[in-house]
Amino acid sequence: MLNKFNKLEDKAKELGLDVFIIDTSYIEVENRVQLKCAFGCRGYGKRLSCPPHIISVDEFRKVLKEYSKALLLIEEHDTSAQKDIFAAWSQLRRESFKKMLELEYYSFREGFIFAHLLRPGACNECEKCADTCTRPDVRRFPPEAVGINLSGLIAKSGLELDIEYCDFNRIKCVGILLLE
Ligand code: SF4
Repeated sequence: MLNKFNKLEDKAKELGLDVFIIDTSYIEVENRVQLKCAFGCRGYGKRLSCPPHIISVDEFRKVLKEYSKALLLIEEHDTSAQKDIFAAWSQLRRESFKKMLELEYYSFREGFIFAHLLRPGACNECEKCADTCTRPDVRRFPPEAVGINLSGLIAKSGLELDIEYCDFNRIKCVGILLLE
């Protein structure tokens, strides 16, 4: 199995992603993270990849118990020359998502048949979400949407990573690929 993880790591690097193998016991799921979605996010309710349109935090806690390993995936983008950071974030997270989804498909083909990606940011594959998702095959939710505390995860895993949310010169797209 170790070889199989190494293959996924190599594939992630080939796609231009930073990759870290983590134990899912390090993934902290907290109700207060989703609270920030419901009260404070200007996109709340607009995307079908996010609350209240997805599984609940409690449901995700149960799902997570069925996975033992995951890949933490990060792609950092230099955004120092960007004038409109929201437009840049929209474009960059779409690009990072495509790479991460390719890795999910690759993992499936390598025998991880329950491989499931938690994508960077809200889904923006369509300009607007319809009443029901028009592309459910690519619909994935972000880690925060199901209560994952990314900062807590990084600290608990002992990774020396700097996830600076307020640094608009270095935007990081972060995803988690659950593996089983
Ligand atoms: S695929 Fe389109 S409709 Fe579905 S969640 Fe994503 S943006 Fe919304």
